[in-house]
Amino acid sequence: MKKALVCGAGGFIGGHLVRQLKKEGYWVRGVDLKKPEFSPSAADEFLILDLREEKNCQTAILGPNHESFDEVYQLAADMGGMGFIHAAECEIMHNSALINIHMIHSSANAGVKRYFFSSSACVYRDMEYNELELSEENAYPALPDNEYGWEKLYAERMAMAYGRRFGLTIRLARFQNCYGPEGTWKGGREKAPAALCRKIAEAKDNDTIEIWGDGTAMRAYTYIDDMIEGIRMLMDSDIENGVNIGRQEYVSVDELAKTIAEISGKKINLKHIEGPVGVKARNFRIDRISSLGWISQFSLRDGLTKTYSWIKDQVEINKSN
Ligand code: NAD
Repeated sequence: MKKALVCGAGGFIGGHLVRQLKKEGYWVRGVDLKKPEFSPSAADEFLILDLREEKNCQTAILGPNHESFDEVYQLAADMGGMGFIHAAECEIMHNSALINIHMIHSSANAGVKRYFFSSSACVYRDMEYNELELSEENAYPALPDNEYGWEKLYAERMAMAYGRRFGLTIRLARFQNCYGPEGTWKGGREKAPAALCRKIAEAKDNDTIEIWGDGTAMRAYTYIDDMIEGIRMLMDSDIENGVNIGRQEYVSVDELAKTIAEISGKKINLKHIEGPVGVKARNFRIDRISSLGWISQFSLRDGLTKTYSWIKDQVEINKSN
């Protein structure tokens, strides 16, 4: 039986990934600062550890019988949507870098065979509307729009350096925005799809919701099940270097809000206010992940329908508590 360690298993993508690995027959240890908020972890064992501390990374990486893990998935990060990324630059640079520094070092020393790192489309520069999609090489010359992207680039490079020195197989995914049930939906770390689902679920018919910026920023969003499939395909593959994973269905923030409003069945008015927006546009090529047979199965509308329904339930549960 293969053994996997999932760092960040108390979070959104990590929680779903643990479930998938269990379905595939792995023995899984999850590690995080916290347990998953919305449903119990599917992991065989769950350790609450602060991975900014090297000794905790060493504890996490020591298998149940002191053997090393076959696979490590490093998804732990101090992370959130655009509001958080702008407000918490130092925390992101400090906390996520420490986690990545200690985790790759401990994994290499423990003789881990395969190491997955979750990077981000934020490693790419800002783009013009209608500009040709960027491929993985276009991350260089590097000009990420925010410190979160710079930290991801550093962590990618560090993982690759350890891979070269220690013969560790590294798999690097660059995720587009990912959304779905059990993602953060309130509290300041939520991303645009979840924030808009919440605002619309809380609104009455004909209410007005606020949108940061002028609503024209173009983005693509990937449903969680598609992302999990991409992660597993990439980990099992022989593709070295970064790999973009994301659905190529581009919409403006206003279009995203209007789609969610349609799904809710409410008439919702949009009011644009000052706020952190991030890049104008971000489009990337997906030839590498597609070469493994990866195809996004969930249209934005289908994925948002599932996500809106889950967030609407959360809003109701919260009201009654
Ligand atoms: P998330 O915030 O839900 O999960 C991250 C988890 O890391 C959290 O549960 C958090 O408690 C944990 N963590 C933070 N600091 C820790 C520490 N010191 N020790 C142990 N655990 C710690 O985020 P997510 O959306 O599941 O993202 C997972 C990974 O994917 C992250 O690395 C993120 O940067 C990357 N990513 C996500 C997206 C997205 O749209 N969700 C896009 C690009 C990249």
